[in-house]
Amino acid sequence: MNRKEFAEFLIGKTEHTKDEYEAMYPERTLSDNAMVTRFAPSPTGFVHIGSLFTSFIASRFAKQTNGVCYLRIEDTDQKRTVENGVSNIIRDLANFNIHFDEGMTSENESNGNYGPYLQSKREDIYKAYAKDLIEKDLAYPCFLSEEEMEEIRGMQEDIKARIGIYGKYAKYRNLSVEDAVAKIEAGEKYIIRLKSPGEFNNKIIVDDIIRGRMEFNENDLDIVIIKGDGLPTYHFAHAIDDHLMHTTHVIRGDEWISSLPIHIQLFNVLGFKAPKYVHLSPLMKKDNGVVRKISKRKDAEAAVSYYHEEGIPYYAVLLYLMTVANSNFEAWLDANPTGKYEDFALTFSKMSSSGSLFDMDKLLNISKNYISRLSKNEVYDMALNYSKEYDSELYELLTKYKDYSIDVFNIEREQKKPRKDLAKFSDIKEYLWYMYDELYKPLNYEFMNITDEKEISKILSTYMEKYYNVDDKESWFNNIKLLTDELGYASDMKEYKANPNNYKGNVSDIATVLRVALTSKSQTPDLYEIMRLFGKDRILNRYKKFM
Ligand code: GLU
Repeated sequence: MNRKEFAEFLIGKTEHTKDEYEAMYPERTLSDNAMVTRFAPSPTGFVHIGSLFTSFIASRFAKQTNGVCYLRIEDTDQKRTVENGVSNIIRDLANFNIHFDEGMTSENESNGNYGPYLQSKREDIYKAYAKDLIEKDLAYPCFLSEEEMEEIRGMQEDIKARIGIYGKYAKYRNLSVEDAVAKIEAGEKYIIRLKSPGEFNNKIIVDDIIRGRMEFNENDLDIVIIKGDGLPTYHFAHAIDDHLMHTTHVIRGDEWISSLPIHIQLFNVLGFKAPKYVHLSPLMKKDNGVVRKISKRKDAEAAVSYYHEEGIPYYAVLLYLMTVANSNFEAWLDANPTGKYEDFALTFSKMSSSGSLFDMDKLLNISKNYISRLSKNEVYDMALNYSKEYDSELYELLTKYKDYSIDVFNIEREQKKPRKDLAKFSDIKEYLWYMYDELYKPLNYEFMNITDEKEISKILSTYMEKYYNVDDKESWFNNIKLLTDELGYASDMKEYKANPNNYKGNVSDIATVLRVALTSKSQTPDLYEIMRLFGKDRILNRYKKFM
């Protein structure tokens, strides 16, 4: 049996040969600087904040260079596949407005000319390349059983040798074709391993765009390329895919750095030009003084669904991720407070090669700023969408009192210095409950300086009888000053400060009474706006209990 026949014997027939596949995935016609990037998750259905970061960066660089960012699903490890895993990833990323130019669009569908984008649908392709390697004596069948592998591992641990199948542990790398065929005919199981041409003591240099030059020992592990189930390993599949799909920049988490010697070697052995590498630093968290990666198991904020559930606008999260991505973005945002991240050109040179601390306070602060600059209608729509999914009581109120609600959201908004208090829509009830009679459950009324019940009653009834006026802010305030004078308080702060003993209190004490009796809160946004929106009857209704 010659090697070609041997390869066919091991792998079986493939629909196309490697050369045919090469011809089926021609170079892309893009401009010279265009980047082809990809996001390549396993279909676990879970999107980690770090994955959002990676996919966001990958899609930004493709956009910025008029390139392509595609979604490839790496499902060759069937144990990691969950039901609706692909669609959940697509949905979660779409919630952050991340859409791919090419690749999977649902559980089974895709668009683009470089598919399939689901690795399990590409089995024939990987086999064609594996056959080629076997033919060239660069890959071989390995018959090591689970037990033998365990034994080798145990031995390596005992003598503190490197773990893996290499050198003398690669028992089958030089088995003759005849002996291999005889074993297979006798029913022995096998997998396909790379016959690594590497020498561990040789050094290789790999360039990473963020980290610069890195030195590694060459890979000498005979890694598995085709598993017992006929599917490839991640290492093998990704090299073939990035080659055929013409990825120019592999942008991924830095947990893959240690695999670089294997990846570079695979690209070489397969005769491919290696892509450029961009390994992103992880998002870290301080936990009891210890800095560690954000963990799916320990941290609610690790899941991107968290931001959706909390009602943190996706755009604010992306603005925050931009500050993590590029150290100069924050200064840019300060200088361009209404700026869109789309207007900022990300650069690799401003990316950090060490992990960044994930700062929730900063994110919420960015969110506050962002929400404060939205129009009343935008905030209303967002609040409505959020409550539709997460708070039916609020949803009903926002729907029933639409115009009123829009006006409520407009208090101290759509102006030069808008009020910044709402950071997430899950806080919305806390923010506006007292504006809806249905939600109004008064707090302890803290009237501050004026506490006498009779005095409070007098202030409220005199106000309602003689001075209520919400025509415009100036007359509203003038009237409160008149009320202040009439009741023997100081309507002018200067006057009051000059001689406090002459007065029972001042105009702000009076305003506090009007405010607290209405809302039960001592601090609210603009009282005039609140009173104007309430109208006389509703105000009287709230004041009644004190009059
Ligand atoms: N499928 C790999 C993962 O789940 C992708 C790694 C890569 O981007 O090369 O992280």
